[in-house]
Amino acid sequence: MQRWSSGRLSAAACLVALLMASSDTAKAQDFAGREKLRAFGDQEFRKDVLTVTDGVYVAVGYSMANATLIVGNGGAIIVDTTTRIDDAQAVRAQFATISRAPVRAIIYTHSHPDHTGGASVFAGTDRPEIYSHQLFVNRVPDLGRAGRDGGDQFGSTLPDALYINGGTGTEFGRPSGPAAMKTGFLPPTKTFSNDRLALTIAGVRMELLHTPGETNDGVSVWLPDKRVLLTGDLFLKAFPNLYAIRGAAPRPVEQWVASLTKLIALGAEHIVPGHTRPVIGEANARVALTAYRDGIKSIFDQTVEGMKRGERPDELVAHVKLPPQLADSPYLQEYYGTVEWSVRAIYSDRLGWFDGNATRLFPLPESDRAQRIVALARRCAADTFPRARRAEHAGFPMGRRTHGLRAGHGRGERRREASQGAGADRTRRAADKRQRQELLPLGRPVPGARSSAAVGEPGNCW
Ligand SMILES: [Zn+2]
Repeated sequence: MQRWSSGRLSAAACLVALLMASSDTAKAQDFAGREKLRAFGDQEFRKDVLTVTDGVYVAVGYSMANATLIVGNGGAIIVDTTTRIDDAQAVRAQFATISRAPVRAIIYTHSHPDHTGGASVFAGTDRPEIYSHQLFVNRVPDLGRAGRDGGDQFGSTLPDALYINGGTGTEFGRPSGPAAMKTGFLPPTKTFSNDRLALTIAGVRMELLHTPGETNDGVSVWLPDKRVLLTGDLFLKAFPNLYAIRGAAPRPVEQWVASLTKLIALGAEHIVPGHTRPVIGEANARVALTAYRDGIKSIFDQTVEGMKRGERPDELVAHVKLPPQLADSPYLQEYYGTVEWSVRAIYSDRLGWFDGNATRLFPLPESDRAQRIVALARRCAADTFPRARRAEHAGFPMGRRTHGLRAGHGRGERRREASQGAGADRTRRAADKRQRQELLPLGRPVPGARSSAAVGEPGNCW
């Protein structure tokens, strides 16, 4: 998770719910992912302090992210500190029932605020050292998107009736808002710049491993004597955010894969993620990390291969999917990141925003485009919505989902249409063809552009 980062709950659920809320609240209830997301949250974000193994305890469900207590001889270590002071206070009260030993160290797995905001509460008057990677200190904050990034990604501004959870935690930015989230942050006092830092704190041997992925400053904590691995947000029980829709640079996918490969080699017996409940048992831990690594790598490899063939993002997302043996993995469901957004991010990270379609080099302003669409619809007064739908099917350069929603044309309807069989499909394709033929004379072809009609995209007919 990152600055106002994290949550694909975010992902499909929140964004789609946000869009739907603006048009039709009732239809939001039909979003297929809602119940799945709710069940996931009920399972993974249930408020608990769990014993991972002797001397290692993790608090889940108290905040967006987990906080972990490691009890040593005459001292304790805290790994990640939750988001807010009130969250941290609730966790600290629970940890106090396990150990009242002074906190000797706080370790940040990375710089995102859902992991750092409660540090002052755990530090109290104990004056612990605070560990991070040096890149934590050197980081350049994300530019963000005018402060609305949390709303886009976490559903922070959704009405209660539509809000479910934060995808990787209970909530982020609700109800306090981002301004309240950094008040407990304490800066690191000890950093390392290499790949590994070996420490013994309160008699507990540990290694801090530099594992970039969701962030460049990512650190995993390995307890070799207990065979416990704390991954931060490098591993969660959800498909990762290879790109965060809140507005951030695409994540370094190849480094992410390499970091997971490094962690698999440790042979951990238990995994404590930065979000969601721990994975207990060596076999389960190996399966979880391997599935996560292989799933990410597969999406990356498929996307790059398609790019080499000249495929554009819209073409790539049509076929780049998790392999069948991983599609149902409980560690790769799209509660947080999505495969589709990841594919688009990998493309833009490697090839930039231009997808090779010359008609997109100088797009019309949104207002101009909207006026033309409205004018077109008015010309078809008798069957405005059906025609708008056919225009959408013909690939007009408008927000597919948004316009589909505006036309009452959601996923469920598309699925029903798809199930009507080849006959209906042929009829629709014929209608689309007629539509394109009618509209092409309106076009303003770009000199030198390949015929978009030839590839089924009348994007230059405006
Ligand atoms: Zn996080």
